[in-house]
Amino acid sequence: MRNYRIIAIIASVAIILLQHNNITSMYSKYIQDMSLKFDRVCWVAIDNEMVARQTAFSRLMKKMTREERDSVYKIVPYIEITEVDIDEYRKLGVFNTSGDAYTHSYEDRHLRFNDMMRMDVLDSIFCALSPIELPHRFILYNKDMQGVDSIGEFNLKEGNYQKFQPLGFRGWQYLQLDANIPIKNFIETELLGLIVSSLMMLLALGCLLFQLTVIRRKEEELKWRDDATRDIIHDLKHPLTTAMTIAEGMKALNDDAVLHEAMDYNYNKFKHVLLQVEELKDAVSEDRPKDKLQTQQVDLVKLAQRVKEECDLLFADKEHSIEIVNKLPEGYRIKANPVMVERIMRNLVENGLKYAEYGVRVEVRLNQTEKGALVEVEDNGWGIAPEYQKKIFKLYYRIPLEDDYRRRGTGVGLASAKTAVRLHRGKIWMKSELGKGSTFSFSLPEE
Ligand code: ADP
Repeated sequence: MRNYRIIAIIASVAIILLQHNNITSMYSKYIQDMSLKFDRVCWVAIDNEMVARQTAFSRLMKKMTREERDSVYKIVPYIEITEVDIDEYRKLGVFNTSGDAYTHSYEDRHLRFNDMMRMDVLDSIFCALSPIELPHRFILYNKDMQGVDSIGEFNLKEGNYQKFQPLGFRGWQYLQLDANIPIKNFIETELLGLIVSSLMMLLALGCLLFQLTVIRRKEEELKWRDDATRDIIHDLKHPLTTAMTIAEGMKALNDDAVLHEAMDYNYNKFKHVLLQVEELKDAVSEDRPKDKLQTQQVDLVKLAQRVKEECDLLFADKEHSIEIVNKLPEGYRIKANPVMVERIMRNLVENGLKYAEYGVRVEVRLNQTEKGALVEVEDNGWGIAPEYQKKIFKLYYRIPLEDDYRRRGTGVGLASAKTAVRLHRGKIWMKSELGKGSTFSFSLPEE
């Protein structure tokens, strides 16, 4: 898969995750807000249930004689609020206001008097005050945390809200409320925010898709252009090879030294153009299914010598020297495509001569290594700055130079060399220092 598609997929996943994260945090904020509301509703319900019990208790007391009342107060004396450490209880969240503190002190008295919380009353007050219909359950625990009463049917696993509330100061009873704040209410409340953020997400995904379509269209255009280039190259090769054959034929038919020199010159120029044309064909063919590589036993030394001879002629008007250092064993052959290997070598030598001042020296070293044949082409030319070293193997890439007139080229040679080396399952790399020169190397496996 092409890089831009992978990037588009990563970006889409990132956008979706971001949206998911956004909705999750909106939801948890909503649950937080609602929890605060229900905390308050629960407080008020407990207070109101207390008041109802207090009223019933007072009514009962009124019906008693004075002696009976006194005996009740003896059994259940009032708890003075000053008897408890208010600050500590406030920190524990037992109450918030002084009013709450008084309610708790009353609760203490009722619990001592065995006047228990009435769950049905509490529940009906809670339901009446609740801003939304809330599936819930109240459980009443004694001081040993044993459930003593409950109301409501509720599966705890579904709950997203829980409140645990001590009753009275002395922790004689505890009330627990489990509830589920329905997602439906969240959607209703946050509808606008949800729609806006979803639209934004769709917009971002749409833009990505649009970009992808544009790139795809461009890619098709480029492919079409490559196909056209390939056809033109095919048509160009025929007249060039004919011209080379004519040059050789004229040499054979005539002994004139001047004509020989002129024909050699012409032959070389035609070959140079032909190689460039073939390089271009290789380079634009990189993405196509490869034709089976036509290989044969290749003598690298012979190829290097031919490259040297032809480049000497081609750069006859530029002072230079090309030296071949052969460290290959006698009679060494490698299974490869001779035309392609010659083209790679020639391209590297030509570049060495081209991107250098007069008097340049190019050394072609041939070696055998564990991985196969190694060809190194070293020059003492201009060298390549580090920031360009990776880019030069890209098709059509040329290092920007101020005095560009000094060199001619297409930016195809190294890309084509890379394709050809890869076709042979070999490797190509380079080392260079600006102002000192470069060494381009490629290896070819023996099998
Ligand atoms: P071309 O030579 O047609 O521009 P290449 O693909 O062969 O295309 O080279 C790409 C670029 O790499 C060249 O334009 C040149 O700037 C740089 N380059 C290649 N070989 C050398 C070298 N031996 N020394 C300095 N620069 C080089």
